[in-house]
Amino acid sequence: MICIACENEHQENFCPNCGERAGIPKITFKSMFVEAFKTVTNMDKGFLLNLKYLTLHPKLAVILFTIQLFLIAIGIGVIRT
Ligand SMILES: [Zn+2]
Repeated sequence: MICIACENEHQENFCPNCGERAGIPKITFKSMFVEAFKTVTNMDKGFLLNLKYLTLHPKLAVILFTIQLFLIAIGIGVIRT
């Protein structure tokens, strides 16, 4: 494995040369586009269903999203609609 910080080749969990954690993928333009696409399309019930809720009932969608964020923040869980 090659360290992304100092390019030292090693087989440890952390680079013995600089201490960087191993297994971290390098951030490239391609990886940013892939992650952006995953973020948009990998919603709980799909992008089109969320788009439908945001179009037909935007206030309800925002309220439910805010409640979910609050519940996740305090560690209770997620509301399934
Ligand atoms: Zn290193």
